[in-house]
Amino acid sequence: MDGLMQPRPLTIAHILERAERLFAHKTVVTAGTERLTYADVCGNARRLATALAALGVPAGARVGTFAGNSRRHLEVYLGAPVTKRVLHSINIRLSAEHLEYIVNHAEDDVVFVDRGLLPRIWPSAGRLPSVRYWVVLPDGTGTAIPADPRVLDYDELIAGAEPFTGSFEDTFALADENLAAGLCYTSGTTGPPKGVLYSHRSTVLHCLGTLAAGLVGLCESDVVLPIVPMFHANAWGLPYGAMMAGASLVLPGSSAEPAHLLRLMETERVTVAGAVPTVWTSLAPGLGAHDLSATRFLLGGGSAVPAALSETYRAAVGVPITHSWGMTEISPVGVIGGTRTQHRDAPEADRVAVRAAQGQPLPLVNVRIVDVETGRELPRDGRAVGELQVAGPWVAGGYFRVPAGESFTRDGWLRTGDLATIDADGYLRLVDRIKDLIKSGGEWISSVELEGAIASHPDVVEVAVVARPDPRWVERPVAYVALRAGSTATAEELLRHIAPMVAKWWLPDEFVFLAALPKTGTGKLSKLALRDSARIA
Ligand code: ADP
Repeated sequence: MDGLMQPRPLTIAHILERAERLFAHKTVVTAGTERLTYADVCGNARRLATALAALGVPAGARVGTFAGNSRRHLEVYLGAPVTKRVLHSINIRLSAEHLEYIVNHAEDDVVFVDRGLLPRIWPSAGRLPSVRYWVVLPDGTGTAIPADPRVLDYDELIAGAEPFTGSFEDTFALADENLAAGLCYTSGTTGPPKGVLYSHRSTVLHCLGTLAAGLVGLCESDVVLPIVPMFHANAWGLPYGAMMAGASLVLPGSSAEPAHLLRLMETERVTVAGAVPTVWTSLAPGLGAHDLSATRFLLGGGSAVPAALSETYRAAVGVPITHSWGMTEISPVGVIGGTRTQHRDAPEADRVAVRAAQGQPLPLVNVRIVDVETGRELPRDGRAVGELQVAGPWVAGGYFRVPAGESFTRDGWLRTGDLATIDADGYLRLVDRIKDLIKSGGEWISSVELEGAIASHPDVVEVAVVARPDPRWVERPVAYVALRAGSTATAEELLRHIAPMVAKWWLPDEFVFLAALPKTGTGKLSKLALRDSARIA
């Protein structure tokens, strides 16, 4: 027997119209200088709806964005999906080769680009035949704008368009909740980048999942700063989540300078911020010079958050970095860390260890670990290590225009390529990416665990451990380290520091000291680049 509840679709249109109805006066601040309200931003999205129609951008067409975190970018975030077009946020740090591959693969019909970023994408324009219009987003820079009939000015486009005055939500039938709303490509570290095609339904459910109490739990009184770029898996759902909750948004604009971000956190009284660990590392030296007392929740993910880094924030700001694990394929948040009631009276060192775990799955997300060879499910005993697999309503079930191949199991779970343990309480601890594990003399060394040990030395700012081919042991660990300015720490000292924490045969064969470590397009440490140099050395 069916239930008798209303068959209403889950759509991003509801997020927009809810913000208009309930939180019209709440603010969206860009770069600390431009202050608009949700009424303004949603009003511009309504104008954009008409403008896209006038440009002949059909339903289902991909609308690319190549932009920093700004209110204009947010307007496209809303205006494209609520009109049944697909928002494709493009990583602005891609090589020309990957950029061209992705835009051509997505067949973007129109691309919205920050004026200051034109030099990074315009040289490729001739090789991007699907793009009929380039809409330039003013960003305060004076970068030259190409004289080309395909190039339009965003502000003029919006000013010249009448706002759509109806209800976007009413244009969605029940089945339309499964329409594509967003497209993000994976980084392509293990083959060509793959497109993850989010639906309205998956986006709304992911929003609700992260909004749930006890998780990120965004609420109306929050001031949310997505430092994580809006092209990195939809800024982890923070922009839509903030709007749904009625929280104010602070968008950093095009600068990722630590001083700029810290100033924004202080002056805007930011309560919730999210960033990858390398960014939290870059902000750490400046924490003492700012009043960050409004902070209530800091989110860290994308790669492992070293316990020492989280503790630095707990000491300086009073709030640890809450660990989260996810993937572009998981919208991206699948797992969130933190302690539970049972840990309340535990010794602090144990609580630190619990917080260092990636955490527990969000409601509606199922996780399991399986034996890599046999595919058999492994026990949740905190010891067995297996490949992590995930299933849930905001987990990808396939990729855009490529065969699913090895990425999914026969029963439809996503194979993550990560190795993890799961304990009896459901806490997940990531051991390593399968491809980052170091195989030494037939035994595995976890690069993540070694990095955590090395990062606990007070002079270590950044560390990445990669495998170097070795004639005797197959592979041996090499540690790449960036030290605090003025530090005189040596390899011997770091070895002495980690010796009590890891097995003797885990000790790196070499420490290579660099001023800074190479980063990927999403700001994570680039093991690929380091592995190449380890191989050559
Ligand atoms: P990529 O890193 O390939 O650009 P994603 O941003 O989707 O693409 O990254 C997903 C991967 O990042 C995960 O499979 C995992 O290896 C790693 N990752 C994400 N969050 C964490 C975390 N909290 N701890 C350790 N690794 C993480």
